[in-house]
Amino acid sequence: MRAIITGGTGFIGRALVAELREHDWEIVILSRNPGRVAETFGQGVIGMPWENGWVDMLGPDTVVVNLAGENIAGRWTGGRKKRILASRVEAGKTLVRAVKSTGKPPRALIQASAVGYYGPCGNTPVDEYAPGGTGFLAEVCRQWEASTGVLESMGVRRCTVRTGMVLGQGGAFKRMLPPFRCFLGGYPGSGFQGVSWIHLADEVGAIRFLMDNESASGPYNLTAPEPVNFRKFAHMLGMVLNRPYKTPVPEFALRLLYGEMAREVLLSGQIALPKRLTKAGYRFKFPGLEDALRDLL
Ligand code: NDP
Repeated sequence: MRAIITGGTGFIGRALVAELREHDWEIVILSRNPGRVAETFGQGVIGMPWENGWVDMLGPDTVVVNLAGENIAGRWTGGRKKRILASRVEAGKTLVRAVKSTGKPPRALIQASAVGYYGPCGNTPVDEYAPGGTGFLAEVCRQWEASTGVLESMGVRRCTVRTGMVLGQGGAFKRMLPPFRCFLGGYPGSGFQGVSWIHLADEVGAIRFLMDNESASGPYNLTAPEPVNFRKFAHMLGMVLNRPYKTPVPEFALRLLYGEMAREVLLSGQIALPKRLTKAGYRFKFPGLEDALRDLL
């Protein structure tokens, strides 16, 4: 089997590539820097530009995993917001155009999304049947998911993976560690906002599960079944690192530094439950936060 992965050079993509290589998948990564693919992965992983060379590889032996997108960390200026949205929607549209032009639908498409789909929802748990929320990220997720929606009417089995904060040696979690290690760990604002997290091994495990499971389609929350709030998260992280965690970062400082990003990501949250993934039979390697943190640190 062949996997065509967009965003395969990123934090999640690299771990997925490692997993697929172990199981002898042929791997093609669509990248803005295809030359860097060979540097990163060595022989055996093919880097292709988005523009050409890969379209004829579509077909029933191929699964597409669409992870590409501008990173959302940091302050959202007008220009960044445009890139955050356009990078995702354009990636989806390019895949759709490719399938239409060849008339060779892939066996399946795993379409990335995020728990931000549900918008800020306090501490009310949501599953995949909850409606989309409001705010910039919710709108990005809605358009991102919709960008490849038409493939379903062309017979493609499509799973949208609404991912929580992925814990591993990258992403937001990696950025969180230095202050904790320097005894400056804490939680943003009140700390009562929900944190839907998932260990990288389960993120990759669940994507693999959905790639292989012919009866899986539709939205799936890729989040651990035991979500916490930021206070609990900071407490656990401090405990595992053997560092105090008592320094809350005041709301006004975060708003000043990060503006809208702080309001939508750091100061509000979701408790998104993996209802459909669990029902489909996926077994989490790290359902609980303490074990996940101990494994990583
Ligand atoms: P990364 O930021 O590590 O990697 C994303 C990849 O997308 C990059 O390697 C890059 O590939 C490509 N990319 C970046 N910017 C652009 C752009 N402007 N235009 C086109 N392509 C771009 O992301 P992750 O691996 O952490 O996440 C993968 C996807 O999952 C992302 O879309 C992310 O939003 C989503 N997600 C991640 C979560 C997390 O906690 N990590 C949580 C929820 C959702 P290249 O340079 O090779 O083109």
